Amino acid sequence: MKDKTIKLLNKKGLRLDGRKLDELRSVKLEVGILPNADGSAYVEHGKNKIIVGVFGPREMHPKHLQRADRMVLRCRYHMAPFSVPERKSPAPSRRENELSKVIRDSLLPSLFVENYPRTGVDLYIEVLQADGGTRCASITAASLALADAGLPMRDIVVACAAGKVNGKIALDLMDTEDKLGDADVPVAYMPNLNAITLLQMDGKLSTKEFEEAVKMAIEGCKKISNIQKEALQTKYKVIKQEEVEE
Ligand code: UDP
Repeated sequence: MKDKTIKLLNKKGLRLDGRKLDELRSVKLEVGILPNADGSAYVEHGKNKIIVGVFGPREMHPKHLQRADRMVLRCRYHMAPFSVPERKSPAPSRRENELSKVIRDSLLPSLFVENYPRTGVDLYIEVLQADGGTRCASITAASLALADAGLPMRDIVVACAAGKVNGKIALDLMDTEDKLGDADVPVAYMPNLNAITLLQMDGKLSTKEFEEAVKMAIEGCKKISNIQKEALQTKYKVIKQEEVEE
């Protein structure tokens, strides 16, 4: 049972880390950080630290998993044993299998899978440090890593959650708020297409609260989307600068 007596908002309506209800944690994104992968990205979202590496599109192995009419996206979300306060077993858990699936499903609508028959793309997500909202931060970084791998995309997928703490709808819950709060609604979104690719809910909300949370999460997604674009542009500015210097 969640302890409802714990105060997650102070008298001024500020949260445990001093944020306002509609305020995001700080988000830093970097692209192309792994030379051995075809595409990669690193995200720091609040205290979350996540690295993503992509291989492909390349011939799909084992061959019986190939699809004659499309590319297959495989995704592995994994938490390092040291990523959470209680050592996590390095073996894949039920939760990690579920998150691997929902992350994959949230990215697929952005890809032209039909253009790459018989190929596969492997997406590896390593959570180095977790503090609530790792599925959203993983989606944000994974979509950037796919763009970095040179895959044409309909849009870059971005994700952010909103939830309910001490009866109020709040953006981007950290771990303590997630555990002691009333609800959490992760949303993945394609801003240019105005399309949601992931929508989950943990906890209880009224219809009005749910709609407010989704709206707030989408506003958060739009802000993070700008940081994604800056991260991609930064990589190409550095490459251009290196070319000029040569
Ligand atoms: N968590 C943990 N131990 C675990 C799994 C998760 O401490 O074995 C924490 C971690 O901080 C994570 C948070 O619980 O970010 C919330 O997990 P949830 O399943 O809601 O997914 P997330 O919010 O990370 O997408």
